[in-house]
Amino acid sequence: AKGMGRNNYQAYVAVPEESHQQRLALEAKLRQAERNGELRVFYQPQVDTTTEDIVGMEALIRWEHPELGMISPGFFIPLAEETGLIIPIGEWVLRAACQDARRWQVRFSLPLRISVNLSPLQLRQPNLVGLVAAVLEETGVPAHLLDLEVTESISVKSIPNLLETLQALRELGCQISIDDFGTGQSSLDYIKRFPADRIKIDQAFVRNIGLDPDDEAIVQATIGMAHNLNRAVVAEGVEIEAHLDFLRGLGCEVLQGYLFCRPLPAASFESLLSERERL
Ligand code: C2E
Ligand code: CA
Ligand code: CA
Ligand code: CA
Repeated sequence: AKGMGRNNYQAYVAVPEESHQQRLALEAKLRQAERNGELRVFYQPQVDTTTEDIVGMEALIRWEHPELGMISPGFFIPLAEETGLIIPIGEWVLRAACQDARRWQVRFSLPLRISVNLSPLQLRQPNLVGLVAAVLEETGVPAHLLDLEVTESISVKSIPNLLETLQALRELGCQISIDDFGTGQSSLDYIKRFPADRIKIDQAFVRNIGLDPDDEAIVQATIGMAHNLNRAVVAEGVEIEAHLDFLRGLGCEVLQGYLFCRPLPAASFESLLSERERL
């Protein structure tokens, strides 16, 4: 794989087992984080399997806490979900990611696709489609270059009108990806009815390529099924050449993982694009 920056941004602080008191304090701080400008969007490249060109990037949120340092979303997204803070935070990420993406699309004359994670709570908001339309209009991102990632474990039953909402987002021209594919309990019928353009194979399966023939069989079957249903496939957690070779052999279209690049702050991602432009 072509080298893409060696910086290591994974040095998160270990957050200790929280008491109720600490949790409330953290919630209060998370409430202020957006206002205080402590939230960051990092970007991880998605590359074309054949050419290894950057074709898009996933927006991944970070919280740069003044005392605790860079906090991983795995730690505060669940809290944001429970408290409803994911609504304003998710809106902030969508807008910031589209602004950055538009700047890069124009500066590098590239049809870069921006992938943004949507939480189940956001999908329950009756005005989600209106919000997405407004952000596209405000930022100038062409709708077909916005990809909204929805996790597979999301249940149609718990979210009223989920399939209709996703369909309305597609009618706007956006793409929908099913994230963490294979980790939920979806039936094949559910997959068939789920209005999605792309399937993201979860890293739990990719990790075991070359190690576990059962997981390899699942990856192979998933790619075959996705293609037969006219869905493109993105593999995440691609860490070593053996993963790349296996996925390439099966015609998986897009790859994402540490083999190519870790998630980068916006400025570093922009430098990466300009380095590549000069190649
Ligand atoms: P996800 O959507 O499944 O994102 C992929 C995660 O895998 C990211 O973790 C990414 O940094 C990590 N990753 C990428 N390549 C590799 C690799 O090669 N190996 C390994 N081991 N990991 C890799 P991150 O950034 O910590 O995000 C964790 C989760 O937090 C995300 O999982 C997503 O569910 C959630 N999240 C992140 N940003 C947002 C956001 O803006 N909104 C919402 N609702 N959720 C978000
Ligand atoms: Ca994702
Ligand atoms: Ca994922
Ligand atoms: Ca995941």
